[in-house]
Amino acid sequence: MRQIARALLGSVLWLGCCGTAAAADADAFDELVRQLEHGEQVFYDAKAANAFLSQLKQQLPPNDEPRLRRYQREACAIEFAEDPKAGIAYSERFITDPAYASDYLTLSYFYLCRASFFGITGDSARQEADLSQALALANSSEDVLAQANVLSAQADLHSTRGEHAEALIQLFKAYELYQKTANRQGLGLALENIATAFRRMAEYDKALEYLETSEREYIAPNDSYRQAFVLTQKAFIFAEMGKTPQARAVLQQVQKIYQDINDERYAVAAGIELLWISNLEQKFTQSLELIAALEQQIRRIQAKDPDFLPYNNTLYQLYQAEALAETGKSAPAALKFAAADALLAQQNNPRYMLMLRQAWSRAEAKAGRYEHAYQLQTEAVVLQDQLNSQAKLQREALLKFQFDSELQTQKNSQLQAENRLTGQQLAVLEAAQRWQYTAIGLFVVLALIALFYAISQIQRNRRLHKLAMTDELTQVGNRRAILEQCNRVQEQARHSQQAWSLMIADIDHFKQCNDLYGHDAGDEVLRGVAQAMQSVLRTQDRIGRSGGEEFLLVLPDTTELQATAIAEQLRQAVAALRFAAYSELRISISIGLTQAGRHEQVREVITRADSALYQAKNRGRNQVVSC
Ligand code: GH3
Ligand code: MG
Ligand code: MG
Repeated sequence: MRQIARALLGSVLWLGCCGTAAAADADAFDELVRQLEHGEQVFYDAKAANAFLSQLKQQLPPNDEPRLRRYQREACAIEFAEDPKAGIAYSERFITDPAYASDYLTLSYFYLCRASFFGITGDSARQEADLSQALALANSSEDVLAQANVLSAQADLHSTRGEHAEALIQLFKAYELYQKTANRQGLGLALENIATAFRRMAEYDKALEYLETSEREYIAPNDSYRQAFVLTQKAFIFAEMGKTPQARAVLQQVQKIYQDINDERYAVAAGIELLWISNLEQKFTQSLELIAALEQQIRRIQAKDPDFLPYNNTLYQLYQAEALAETGKSAPAALKFAAADALLAQQNNPRYMLMLRQAWSRAEAKAGRYEHAYQLQTEAVVLQDQLNSQAKLQREALLKFQFDSELQTQKNSQLQAENRLTGQQLAVLEAAQRWQYTAIGLFVVLALIALFYAISQIQRNRRLHKLAMTDELTQVGNRRAILEQCNRVQEQARHSQQAWSLMIADIDHFKQCNDLYGHDAGDEVLRGVAQAMQSVLRTQDRIGRSGGEEFLLVLPDTTELQATAIAEQLRQAVAALRFAAYSELRISISIGLTQAGRHEQVREVITRADSALYQAKNRGRNQVVSC
């Protein structure tokens, strides 16, 4: 019964939702599928599963190939639950259809479905082959839920063969995958199946731990079936630990849950488990009373459904046999033992076989049939040896798995530590880089500030230099500037062996001008004369105010003759000057000029020009004299 109940709990899902819609609706279809895939509603019998399937069919839009395939997948497990051969044929249709060849996910489910039917028909070799194929396809499809479902089914198969370590390994993987899909139903069942496997390996503490986790985390408060199932599991653990009073209390709770929801079939199953407890406690008279009550219940159900047999019928036959034998009813006991033996022959369940052989052997001995008792005892010893060595192998396999997982965990944490370290190094590097950038940025800013400062200093110096070299009133060079020019031209001329000339121009009777028109007029005359002369000069020529109304002019690459011509132009330009405010005012200049000797000092050249000027003044002013 445990297997059957578990299979039903695990495989048939149902959701009670939505009512009936008039027309097919893709969204409603998808919602049904979503709820199905999240295990949001579970159902525990074929009738309701079929109701769900027809609801899904109603919402299936016409000519919608992907949704049709999704429907066909569900139909396989539900529609043929009662007819495994038809289910195998149905799955095969899709498995062999080339149109489905590249649809790994759908194919994976059809292999899974066919595997479950092979399981029901007892063809465990083909069941195993189909499950391997289903897993390979689920892996190719990268669908996590499909992978988890196949692994759970593989674990189930191992579990029925008593290969609990293998089952555990697959269940742990399935559990991890269900976590990724947030499928609460899958998670809860995986934990419960893990607990069952641990219980069968006599690891009771672990079994209880996993069971309680599932009870705490994954069972909805109103989900009576799941609650009852977990409590039943707990009762098995207590019973196997020898804590029969606790086991009985829990099973009575389970029985009440089933009675409250009017599920007589499961109430019968719980009654059979109570019978087991009664036998374990050697309360065989009580066992007989329980059997009588159970028989009544079974007959009531069979009145409505003649095919009904308890889910855990094999064990029921065995427990009845045991109680009958122990209370001296040897003949009916023998019949029940034989019935249980016949049922077990189809099941390949060494644990049940052992239980049967031990109880049967005791009964036969009691009845004086020692030869058969001895034969059964011998078979029991062989089975016990088999189970012991299997258990030893399983514990080793589990230890290896735990060791490997531990190793993997260690590797992972080492990797994580390395990652953390690399991360820290990176962070330090990044911080250092940030500082470097900041420093570079600051340096650039400082360099720019320094550059701006330097440029403004240079500009300021230039301005100051210009100011120091410029005559404020006339804006031509001052005495220092023009003397520097003289020296420079003299120097260049010495190298280039070219002639250069120097002039001194002096405003005639300037004192009178001041006296007659005022000092301001005098200043304006000075500005006007300087401007007039500058406009006549060539680009290479230089002029500077060397004294009050006296100007010094340097003419590079110029002979005395050429200079005389220029001087004459200067004189005429000044003579032509007119002043708007002083219309009668006429100005003239006298110019003394000379060509510089190659080895002369500037001072000597000036002296000679000065004496020429003196001559010009003496000769009556407003004229040019060279010497
Ligand atoms: P000459 O023809 O012999 O050169 O006679 P002059 O009057 O021009 O010469 P003098 O040296 O006797 O007089 C120069 C005058 O120039 C005297 C001075 O007041 C005037 N002076 C000098 N500097 C300035 C100035 O910056 N502005 C004005 N308005 N007058 C000035
Ligand atoms: Mg003068
Ligand atoms: Mg003068």
